[in-house]
Amino acid sequence: MGRRLAPWAGVAAWLAVGLAAAALGGCHPGRGPAAVDGARLLAADQDPGNWMSHGRTYSEQRFSPLDKINTSNVKDLGLAWSFELSTNRGVEATPIVVDGTMYMTSAWSMVYALNAKTGQLLWRYDPKVPREVGHNACCDVVNRGVAVWKGRVYVATLDGRLVALDAKTGAPVWSVVTVDQSKPYTITMAPRIVHGKVMVGNSGSEYGVRGYVSAYDTDSGKLIWRFFTVPGDPSKPFENQAMAMAAKTWNGVWWTFGGGGSPWDSMAYDPETNLLYFGTGNGLPWDQKARSPKGGDNLFLSSIIAVNADTGAYAWHFQTTPGDSWDFDSTQTLTLADLTIGGQPRKVIMQASKNGFFYVIDRASGKLISAKNYVPVTWASGVDPVTGKPIEIGDDHYRKAPTVMFPSSFGGHNWQPMSFSPKTGLVYLPAQEVPGAYGTDDKFAFNPGQWNTATNTDLNTLPPDAKARAAMKNAFKGYLVAWDPVSQKEVWRAEHKGPWNGGTLATGGGLVFQGTADGHFNAYDAANGHPLWSTDTYTSTLAGPMTYTVDGQQYVAVGAGFGSVFYLVAGFAVDLHGTPDNGRILVYKLGGTATLPKPNLTPIPFPQPPKATAAADVVTAGHSKYNRYCLVCHGYNAISGGVTPDLRYSALIGDPAAFKSVVLEGARKDAGMVSFAGVLKDSDAEAVRAYLISEANAGYAQAKAAGK
Ligand code: CA
Repeated sequence: MGRRLAPWAGVAAWLAVGLAAAALGGCHPGRGPAAVDGARLLAADQDPGNWMSHGRTYSEQRFSPLDKINTSNVKDLGLAWSFELSTNRGVEATPIVVDGTMYMTSAWSMVYALNAKTGQLLWRYDPKVPREVGHNACCDVVNRGVAVWKGRVYVATLDGRLVALDAKTGAPVWSVVTVDQSKPYTITMAPRIVHGKVMVGNSGSEYGVRGYVSAYDTDSGKLIWRFFTVPGDPSKPFENQAMAMAAKTWNGVWWTFGGGGSPWDSMAYDPETNLLYFGTGNGLPWDQKARSPKGGDNLFLSSIIAVNADTGAYAWHFQTTPGDSWDFDSTQTLTLADLTIGGQPRKVIMQASKNGFFYVIDRASGKLISAKNYVPVTWASGVDPVTGKPIEIGDDHYRKAPTVMFPSSFGGHNWQPMSFSPKTGLVYLPAQEVPGAYGTDDKFAFNPGQWNTATNTDLNTLPPDAKARAAMKNAFKGYLVAWDPVSQKEVWRAEHKGPWNGGTLATGGGLVFQGTADGHFNAYDAANGHPLWSTDTYTSTLAGPMTYTVDGQQYVAVGAGFGSVFYLVAGFAVDLHGTPDNGRILVYKLGGTATLPKPNLTPIPFPQPPKATAAADVVTAGHSKYNRYCLVCHGYNAISGGVTPDLRYSALIGDPAAFKSVVLEGARKDAGMVSFAGVLKDSDAEAVRAYLISEANAGYAQAKAAGK
């Protein structure tokens, strides 16, 4: 109880220790690698040369006070070094840098320790994630980074393990399984560490899981607490009062699916209140009618939750999307800041939620201060200032008819982290406009381990002809927004070629850094958005950038790599095609002269497809099965974004036996393509093959018409 009753005493003592440690300054070779503790993290602003936790500080502002690289000299920024990662899948991690060593992750949960000055590899750790687990990961087999603490590096693996590594050697010290591995859980998030406890959530809300956050002892790996985000079977005792409260907002048999609500990315921590904050994901399935048929808020789906960091005890929740039917996860960046609102100092938590609204919430009480849409929103007219609930409009739950709306499951903003500069008072936010089609699926039946949305995914299919597709693509927009969270207004924006651009970094040098989907890394004037610097990365650059110093030199780093969900699903809208190179960590400094090899992005010629002989109804049936089971990895209209094979080009579609061996017999499960024999019959597989042949012929004809 001591900490709850007198939080300031503990913080003051902690801060004193931290400031003393920080006063030592510079590099600390004597104290060993990854020598990070609570005192040092609390004093992170006195130690800006290091980036010691995911969002740099517990507030997760992704603001660095470093100013050696600034608006007047950023034009001289050049590549200092690059390091090639071990895989060609998506790169979403923010590196950690402590005392001259960088800790980075890449796809399949691989960890790298590098000399932060030179890029020299110190060690690499491969957790050897079974590749068939990739089937349970909706959004590519990515990882968003490590946590470090007292000489150890902590990584959560795609298959649900939490592993502590020796920061000096990369050797595992302990490993615990944090999920029921018989269920389709995955983990892609970076763990966070508070008071010697390493916190981690999980993913998998479409596949059949019940979400939760766990806290493990950093020394031993012992489970300290666990907070479920949705209630379990109501005929059994609830884990806590919060679950009893949440269960009153549900009906039906949601627990037989798992319910969803997986907390899969963002966290933040406030030392003053000792509250840990995290965001939760969508319900399982998406359409509420198939999950909780009589409605209800369905707590704690699509919510921001605060718990006591030591005990996991519920403190408050704020649900951004009650009764979510649209995959409006509330897992985007949670940013703590001290703002002056209406003349009063307010301690707030902020989120640019997937649902299109920017929320400013009192972080001690969880009460809404303000909310405003930061992108066009067609499903709600605003947020009720009293209840904090969106004011839904029209047939937004698509009960009467299918609907196309903004935002969609891609969100007005997704996992790509936003930043906040205390210098400008602005939030820098990768925003986007991607429409989504939703319709009810009356034939829905839950399939454990498969993609379960209960929406009529046929409607999500893009128009088959090229012209209509191009029009759809033109409706897609992406831009960097500087948002004033006090007035809830856009201050400036920088337009991009399309959606799905990178996370942001704000610096004391008056800069905002951001990568783009079309393969650039840019710097802007934080005050007015003027573009000041841009460089080719030759690959989608989506991760959160960061900055650090070694020997007094400032560096800016960003992970770059082809992949992530947009490239799996929306290949038609992706500008970069070709055979993806392995991902890289790119590190820039003033006067840097290193270069990147140019990738070969020459399009592969469309091979002559097999003749389309199947009856139209077979193709239609195959299309439906494709959309249910294949689309999430192989893309709308079978157009690959390059991450997974483009099936229209595959020789398999002309060979029924070979196709069957892959689709129904798991011939390529070691590459992540599992057997679908549990959900597809022989005739279904043949129908899918017929559909792919049809798409291949359409694509081939278009390529020929375009002279390719
Ligand atoms: Ca989701």
